[in-house]
Amino acid sequence: MKNAALIRRLSGLETFDRPDPKLEQVATPPEAAAELLNLALQRGDLEGRSVADLGAGTGLLGIGAKLLGAREVVAIEVDPDAVEVARRNATKAKVDLRVEKMDVERFAEKVDTVVMNPPFGAQRRHADLPFWDAALRSAQRGTYAFALADSRTFIARRAVERAASIAENRPVRWVLPASFPHHTKPQVPIPVDLWVLGAAKNP
Ligand code: SAH
Repeated sequence: MKNAALIRRLSGLETFDRPDPKLEQVATPPEAAAELLNLALQRGDLEGRSVADLGAGTGLLGIGAKLLGAREVVAIEVDPDAVEVARRNATKAKVDLRVEKMDVERFAEKVDTVVMNPPFGAQRRHADLPFWDAALRSAQRGTYAFALADSRTFIARRAVERAASIAENRPVRWVLPASFPHHTKPQVPIPVDLWVLGAAKNP
């Protein structure tokens, strides 16, 4: 599927109805999601692979993974409302997405590839920590994820501790429409990185 077509498909999905600031429910912009997914595809980590989408929200990354040829995708999400939205989106996109309502801390499956846009830890410091740990436990090939640029030191340290290579760390364009009451400007650009970690040799 061409990039423009993927972006169009992802843009047509239902987004968070009432985003919960405590859970940092910030939807990935479709362009950034497509960039992450195409990178995973180019690196051989998507087509025919098993994939987990951690903190799947409305299911955007997991559905995109499936659209690009993933064999099976499990979406992990703690919020029951988001779980419903993700299921509706999968049905609408006509893809087979297994959506599990659970805390990412309890996720213990092994998959080839993890894709995730975890909470950035802006509301609750290190809310992203259990996500990086779960990804490093699970991913047998690689982890593709977004994080605030502020988290670089912390993520790099985690990768070194778990003996996972850092294959990519690059800034992405990330402009959000104001979604929470504390966002006063109409558009909020935030410094976000796209990360690719290899499998942890020491999970
Ligand atoms: N992946 C989606 C949503 C990102 S927002 C997208 O790219 O658009 C982060 C998501 O993580 C939210 O849906 C939030 O409800 C979920 N989340 C937060 N803490 C969680 C936890 N401990 N376990 C599972 N999901 C969690």
